[in-house]
Amino acid sequence: MRRLNVREAQIDECIRESMFALSDNPRNPALQPGEPLLLQLTITDARRLGKVDQRINFALIFEWIERDYDESISRRHWPNEGRVWNWIVYGSATVPAIPFSLDRLDLSTTYSGQNNARYIDPVDQTKIQPYLLWSLAQQPDRYSQIVNPSEIAQTFGREPTLEGVLNHDRIALLSPPSKSRYVREGFDRNQWLAESLKSYYSDRCQVCGNDFEPQYGESFSESHHIQYLSSGGQDISGNIVVVCPNHDRIIHATHAEFDRGKLEYRYPNGLRITDSSRSSGEGAWV
Ligand SMILES: [Zn+2]
Repeated sequence: MRRLNVREAQIDECIRESMFALSDNPRNPALQPGEPLLLQLTITDARRLGKVDQRINFALIFEWIERDYDESISRRHWPNEGRVWNWIVYGSATVPAIPFSLDRLDLSTTYSGQNNARYIDPVDQTKIQPYLLWSLAQQPDRYSQIVNPSEIAQTFGREPTLEGVLNHDRIALLSPPSKSRYVREGFDRNQWLAESLKSYYSDRCQVCGNDFEPQYGESFSESHHIQYLSSGGQDISGNIVVVCPNHDRIIHATHAEFDRGKLEYRYPNGLRITDSSRSSGEGAWV
């Protein structure tokens, strides 16, 4: 595992393409395939954005590195940086994270400094690993996540969970769907995203507020895509509602329409039901 420094102006391209640029090819040890590369916001950008405690939101999974001999790759991907790099790093995936900062984690040493691809001690890697949301990456089956998505809000708290889910969404919105392995291989949804949202809402129906847990001792909810994936809807938090089985069925049966402006479902008979949680300003809607 390494710590990279990245400016906010560069990071979208790193997230979208799972790429990074380096002046030197790291040695002792060399980069290993499958190794997480933490994209850490530069301290200047972190201060400017009020993210000093949330400098890391994404990791690239290292796959291979190549020389940028004629500087064309650097210029093509980061045309506004006014500089080029010797080496280009390619990742197999971009993994969203629960936002964190290395200097808030009680690690064995400080990983501050300007140098890039700073190696992270294995002792510290074990403290960092739980923050990486492997199951919300676009290739979730390749890795095992330490924290179960259905307990993510109970583990990290609701606000960090929402931030982690929104990091997933940022990757999904930046990456064209045609490039997604889900679409290519026929997987149209990531069940772990739904599980994370159910955890965030504590399995409460967003339409009626129903919660099975107090009465039945068991949490239970469904997730519903507002715009179906088959109709071009995206598998992101803003397109998913967590609902009780009754509302899941009736929304399907009546083909209720969702009014995004008012955050309410409209049923064909004229009934309108406003999302009970989102009307109070909560929710994963952006
Ligand atoms: Zn309901």
